[in-house]
Amino acid sequence: MDGNKLAVAVAGAGIGGLVTGLILARDGHRIDVFERAPDLTDIGAGIQLSPNAMRILDRLGLGTDVRSVAFEPDGLTFWNATKPAALAHLPFKGPMQRQFGAPYLVCHRGDLQHVLLAACRAEAAISLATGVTVSDALDDADCVRIVTQGRITNAGHDVLIAADGLRSALREVVDPSAQVVRDGQTAWRGSVPPSMAARLVPALDLKRVHVFMDDGRHLVAYRMGRRDQINLVWVAESGAAPPPAGTVQWTAAARALVEAADRWVEWPLARVDCAQWVKGRIALLGDAAHAMTPHAAQGGAMAIEDAFALALCLKNHADVPSALARYQRARRQRAARVASLSAANRDIYQAKGAKAVGRDMALRFAPSSLLLKRMDWLYGGE
Ligand SMILES: Cc1cc2nc3c(=O)[nH]c(=O)nc-3n(C[C@H](O)[C@H](O)[C@H](O)COP(=O)(O)OP(=O)(O)OC[C@H]3O[C@@H](n4cnc5c(N)ncnc54)[C@H](O)[C@@H]3O)c2cc1C
Repeated sequence: MDGNKLAVAVAGAGIGGLVTGLILARDGHRIDVFERAPDLTDIGAGIQLSPNAMRILDRLGLGTDVRSVAFEPDGLTFWNATKPAALAHLPFKGPMQRQFGAPYLVCHRGDLQHVLLAACRAEAAISLATGVTVSDALDDADCVRIVTQGRITNAGHDVLIAADGLRSALREVVDPSAQVVRDGQTAWRGSVPPSMAARLVPALDLKRVHVFMDDGRHLVAYRMGRRDQINLVWVAESGAAPPPAGTVQWTAAARALVEAADRWVEWPLARVDCAQWVKGRIALLGDAAHAMTPHAAQGGAMAIEDAFALALCLKNHADVPSALARYQRARRQRAARVASLSAANRDIYQAKGAKAVGRDMALRFAPSSLLLKRMDWLYGGE
């Protein structure tokens, strides 16, 4: 360790790993990022970037680049999928920036990844090795040694950040009792070109995010940034017939959108139950620590917030283990609250019978400012 400059190993070059590498490099640390995938291809689908995430990306100077690949929706519209009139329109453009200091954006996650990668590659202090799996780590008193391709690395690091996602290999090193818990639901991801959507569903305002709700399933649709694609996420019980099955009662507009999808990719949903995020010089970050269901559109945002909080803790504590312990204390409660919000949203979106009637009434009559106010703690915090 050179003064306060740390040698940091990061396992995983997803959103969490790249943002962590970038922030820590900007703080003067030396970063080695190890990514299992041989190359970081244009995988994935759409991602919503809420103001709590965007504020951090803006502070990192990435705001212009992210905006250049993203789209700022006018707002969010809730529908009962079987009824022709919308239930509620929440305004995003304007209020988000005014209330929370950053916009609410949507983009393709591959485009976000490109922006983050380019920023990391511009930092001389970051080395990024692809095709390298970190399978284990040995935490000594004065350094941590990682195991890659079955070999222990000679050069120790001062810190290891395990940003290796839902199926983290390093989680077991930190908390052997942690578990990946299947949610019992599956997300099906699809896409439609906006030109086709506009032709098929002229009544649908493609400048907005749409949530169509039905008994036991829901559909989220939004533009993937500057790309000529509409992102569709259909969520229903695992084992249920894939979309568009069961949409007979849906309005023609909602059904046309689902039927226009070119292909659907199945994604069983799961969360991570993990009590310990930190052991000595090793810390879990992002999905590795707290993967959650996607109904609050916050998993990526939480990884970005984790990275920001971790950097602050490393700045403010002389020794690494106390800084990491502080990081866990700073982040656990918020991540748990967001995971609960996601579960609650799922219950609202998929409500049946009297509950669905109550939901529809509440959405129809509650002022949109009140609905947005409920999100103050989330979009205004970090
Ligand atoms: C349907 C769906 C919709 C979603 N929508 C949103 C949204 O709108 N907004 C939002 O904020 N979030 C959303 N999320 C959540 C978001 O995708 C994740 O929370 C986020 O990608 C987590 O980032 P991460 O960096 O922690 O993990 P990951 O993105 O999983 O990255 C982990 C990286 O580590 C690599 N890796 C794995 N194991 C190893 C190893 N042993 N050694 C080295 N490298 C390794 C992987 O290859 C990968 O590159 C959604 C999730 C789903 C399922």
